Amino acid sequence: MVRHVDEQIVQQLAAIVGPDNVLLGAERLEPYTHDETVGLRADPEVAVRVTSAQQVAEIFRLANRERLPVTPRGAGYGLSGGAVAVQGGIVLSLEKMNRIVEIDKENLMITVEPGVITGDLHRAVEAEGLFYPPDPASLDSCSIGGNIAEGAGGPRAVKYGTTKDYVCGLEAVLPSGDIVHMGGKLVKNQTGYNLVQLLVGSEGTLAVVTRIILRLLPLPPCRVDLLVPFDDFQAAAGVVSAIIARRIVPTTIEFMERDIVHACRDLLGKDLPYAGAAAQLLIQLDGNHQAALDADCETVAELCLAAGALDVLVAADRPTRDRLWEARRAIIDALNHASPVNHMEDLVVPRARIPDLLRGIHDLAGRLEARILSFGHAGDGNVHVTVLKDDLDGATWEALLPQAREALYRLALSLGGTLTGEHGIGATRRAYLPLALDAAQIEVMRRIRAAFDPNGILNPGKIFP
Ligand SMILES: Cc1cc2nc3c(=O)[nH]c(=O)nc-3n(C[C@H](O)[C@H](O)[C@H](O)COP(=O)(O)OP(=O)(O)OC[C@H]3O[C@@H](n4cnc5c(N)ncnc54)[C@H](O)[C@@H]3O)c2cc1C
Repeated sequence: MVRHVDEQIVQQLAAIVGPDNVLLGAERLEPYTHDETVGLRADPEVAVRVTSAQQVAEIFRLANRERLPVTPRGAGYGLSGGAVAVQGGIVLSLEKMNRIVEIDKENLMITVEPGVITGDLHRAVEAEGLFYPPDPASLDSCSIGGNIAEGAGGPRAVKYGTTKDYVCGLEAVLPSGDIVHMGGKLVKNQTGYNLVQLLVGSEGTLAVVTRIILRLLPLPPCRVDLLVPFDDFQAAAGVVSAIIARRIVPTTIEFMERDIVHACRDLLGKDLPYAGAAAQLLIQLDGNHQAALDADCETVAELCLAAGALDVLVAADRPTRDRLWEARRAIIDALNHASPVNHMEDLVVPRARIPDLLRGIHDLAGRLEARILSFGHAGDGNVHVTVLKDDLDGATWEALLPQAREALYRLALSLGGTLTGEHGIGATRRAYLPLALDAAQIEVMRRIRAAFDPNGILNPGKIFP
């Protein structure tokens, strides 16, 4: 039987974090009722802002005694409801733990608290000539702790991988209240099971991360961006494999369909280059030597033109680059502006199957007579697919959406892909988990979760159906 937060519990929380860090009442709790998932809200009973691992440990001990749900929260920019307290209880916000503890240039490592905004981390290391590649499009808003919990990716995953490829050490508080230190400033470590990587992508269901050690790279000095419009979306999707086949691995290859570019144009209220093209690719290359980069850039441009590109726009300086990326950065806002009721999926398939995935999505949109628009990370097989309600009536939308979702998941699975590449299962996809994972795998995962959290207090209602 789940207890509710009463006056006595509020007082105990205030004794742990200080009264100013205990938030109550509809107005103060409103920012903690949702993340960026369209249409998902739930009221926590209380939100607490912690400033140390010890405070998290004490809150867990209290929550275990009282059987209270605890939902960790970074910046609340997730897209699967992971930070939403779907079973009420306590929202545990890491927003105040936002210190960059150390940039260790000798070991090429950075140590941070989880509430650091990812873009601030980027700027801090780049000022030292260093590089932290994972770059979710939300980087100026989301937190590094949220990135660890979601295994966040981003456009640069094609060449540099995702968050998981950079996490070397974690301090975490287990639901028991134990504070554990896993890994360290170590490039190699084969000591017991790899709990660091188990926590990466665990969507805040196993432990609360309170300190993070990340590997850094030297910042590549040279970079060039290309915007390539096509009048055939299949040709745009197909050119990705042609580029990789020439042994060139761009930093990013992003894909946008015409209707997406139009939605961005409408939101931004200005003309965008080649807005009428059926699809656009945004390709970025980086490297240490300008001459080598120029040669790769030329090869990529030739391959695109041979595949039917209408043009290749090149940006080597910041203002031109910002202009080319303007639409890409505005996409999610633009989709919400085009149809405030919509549903975004995060399908991932082997990169070479992207043309098949896009063809399947177009066929499905035709069959369902709905707008289903795609954009995303063509270079790593991760496509964000948004079903728009537009002016469909409520009943039609309610009937259509589950059909569309299941058909999209089955399509990705039939191509060797899966349900989500970077946004997570969270609250919104958990009913569909058995489509992708067999019962034995789900059972092992459930048992791992129970080993961390026998009383089921941490982020209940997430991942598992
Ligand atoms: C416009 C937009 C663009 C986006 N682009 C991308 C993209 O390109 N790539 C990508 O991967 N994602 C993207 N996202 C999704 C989102 O930004 C990421 O999932 C991000 O990692 C969420 O971080 P957050 O701090 O906002 O986490 P929150 O939403 O606060 O939390 C996310 C999950 O992490 C858990 N959590 C948070 N902090 C901790 C902690 N310290 N310890 C344990 N668990 C914790 C929460 O319980 C929750 O389950 C985008 C979102 C938006 C709105």
